[in-house]
Amino acid sequence: MNILFLFLDGIGLGENNSEKNPFARAEMPYLQSLLGGQTLIQASAPFEGERATLLSVDPNLGVKGLPQSATGQSVLLTGINIPAELGYHYGPKPNPEVAQYLDGKTIFAKTVKAGKKAALLNAYPARYFEGIDSGKRLYSAIPLALTNAGLSLFTQADLYAGRALSADFTGKGWREFMALADSPVFEPQEAGEKLAELAKQYNFAFFEYWASDYAGHKQDMDSAINQLERFDAVLKGLLKIWRDEDGIILLTSDHGNMEDLSTRKHTAANVPLLLFGDKKYRREFQKDIHDLTGIAPAISRFLEIN
Ligand SMILES: [Zn+2]
Repeated sequence: MNILFLFLDGIGLGENNSEKNPFARAEMPYLQSLLGGQTLIQASAPFEGERATLLSVDPNLGVKGLPQSATGQSVLLTGINIPAELGYHYGPKPNPEVAQYLDGKTIFAKTVKAGKKAALLNAYPARYFEGIDSGKRLYSAIPLALTNAGLSLFTQADLYAGRALSADFTGKGWREFMALADSPVFEPQEAGEKLAELAKQYNFAFFEYWASDYAGHKQDMDSAINQLERFDAVLKGLLKIWRDEDGIILLTSDHGNMEDLSTRKHTAANVPLLLFGDKKYRREFQKDIHDLTGIAPAISRFLEIN
């Protein structure tokens, strides 16, 4: 049984307001068909359909201030209420106090310890590793948790060999921003198919998408809509290849942002937890999830890695 954790940074469940919420405006026919004709907004949750479940999950965790990426991602990876223990939300990248939670206690570490296979399916370009090695760039929570578990980040060679995907799904970014004329490029639906094929090779696969948070900070409605419409096709490809009996695909976020483009800051909105897969798996998975801390224990239970 496998899990694919699809992490979209900075997407909350917002209002049905097309002035500020790209989710109220983007054409996402595939996702809507899974949600009984509804869009991905607060009023649509909770929902259970034939192939998808939508829950609304609180990322604030009883701590004042707006939720941030380092603590939010660390909560998703550990199930520990880190903001409550520290007394603050923190981000975007982990400080030493947050980083100490990302060694030994994460889903990546537990999967490895149980003798099962885990991977972060994003490929990272050479200049990312140069930044890390020179000390100019710090790991964000997810790569830090992965490397602490003794696993390696995928590289440009892995992207070319088809073992990993670009963070923008399609790979167009590598051609545009890294001047790699021969790098692999997929149509969005093909990228989703590829993601499913890769994920099935691991007990626990993770994919991190960050451009959604970026569009939120930039208050960029056009980019947000483009991203969501492209993602709808990715999802279609993904669920074409992933069969219900393969396990669970979960999609969630660390905090709201892109669902309210009237502010450049994060929001206090709940985040979506979308589950895809067999209905009985979904019901079992969701039963103790009340806020962001419930997700990691549900993964551990499902993979039997406690
Ligand atoms: Zn952010």
